[in-house]
Amino acid sequence: MPTISIAAPAIQPFQPPRRTLMGPGPSDVPQRILDAMARPTIGHLDPAFVGMMEELKALLRYAFQTGNALTFPVSGPGSVGMETCFVNLVEPGDKVIVCSNGVFGGRMLENVRRAGGRPVAVEDAWGEPVDPGKVEDAFRAHPDAKALAFVHAETSTGAQSDAKALAAIARRHGALSIMDCVTSLGGTPVLVDAWGIDAAYSGSQKCLSCTPGLSPVSFNDRAVERVRARKTPVQSWFMDLNLVLGYWSGEGRRTYHHTAPINPLYGLHEALVMLAEEGIEHAWARHRASHEALKAGLERLGIGFVVAEAARLPQLNAIRIPEGADDAALRTRLLQEFNLEIGAGLGVLAGRIWRIGLMGHSARPQNVDHCLRALEAVLRP
Ligand SMILES: *Cc1c(COP(=O)(O)O)cnc(C)c1O
Repeated sequence: MPTISIAAPAIQPFQPPRRTLMGPGPSDVPQRILDAMARPTIGHLDPAFVGMMEELKALLRYAFQTGNALTFPVSGPGSVGMETCFVNLVEPGDKVIVCSNGVFGGRMLENVRRAGGRPVAVEDAWGEPVDPGKVEDAFRAHPDAKALAFVHAETSTGAQSDAKALAAIARRHGALSIMDCVTSLGGTPVLVDAWGIDAAYSGSQKCLSCTPGLSPVSFNDRAVERVRARKTPVQSWFMDLNLVLGYWSGEGRRTYHHTAPINPLYGLHEALVMLAEEGIEHAWARHRASHEALKAGLERLGIGFVVAEAARLPQLNAIRIPEGADDAALRTRLLQEFNLEIGAGLGVLAGRIWRIGLMGHSARPQNVDHCLRALEAVLRP
């Protein structure tokens, strides 16, 4: 006999409202991707599923612009991709230089600490890109550093750092580079091979416009070598790449590790097929064009940006809340009256900025127009 009862007829199937998502993620998910996720669930070792996994890896290599064999989606949100990089690449006692210019750099520091590493923080102000000069100085002061970690696109501030320059500094000092490209992948150029990035992780729900919960990662041979040469086992069983790889690259001998999120992977496959159909360079151009249109409209409304033009992310527009405007009340009105979600400020920028995402499917003229009309309506005295 069950001892807990529930008023079943009172709780109906959940019908979410239809929103326009222009915050820091998730972005609008095209119906085509939702439809792909509704296809029949099959076994995760079914040959048909395994074939789909191989295509998914090839599509991700295109998105990351890499030939890395070890490129696959980790089962978990971007934070799990982040953690996968740190728990595999950092051994107890390892010194890691971590660039911190916003929320996500701070999380990287915490990841290094929890993996038993010794983080060396290179701080830049929120809203500024990472200063490569400070990174160079940090390597001079800590020549034994084993890795450099940085966020390419800081979603908390809207600033983009020079990933190519940072990776080159790490390489010159014999350290691995670990890049967070959660918000940049698919939105602005991410050239893993051309930039010499050793390990990168991203997320499904930002510029790829899939649902949240998957984290594409890519490791080159130098990074794989580092994992193989570890003296201590990876303390996370789930994220240990030595084990995960038996599942994702078993070459005919795939072994069970965990049950992959089958239907969400159909969705990511579809999202990447759409990216390939569009052409990644056209996706970058579309994000840029959407940003230009939004920027022109915001200027007409007298709204300014947080980040200097040269480091501004087209897909994450951090804007100053106009003088006298009530942050929370206006965002509530946007949601209730316009079904529009924009992002609040985080940390030191809370209450001072809004973050308007133009990510993936949300980077289109209809969204820009809707957002500008809604902002104008709620800001009008
Ligand atoms: C969103 C985001 C993450 C975390 O991704 P989740 O899917 O929310 O876990 C990490 N880094 C950056 C830069 C992000 O924007």
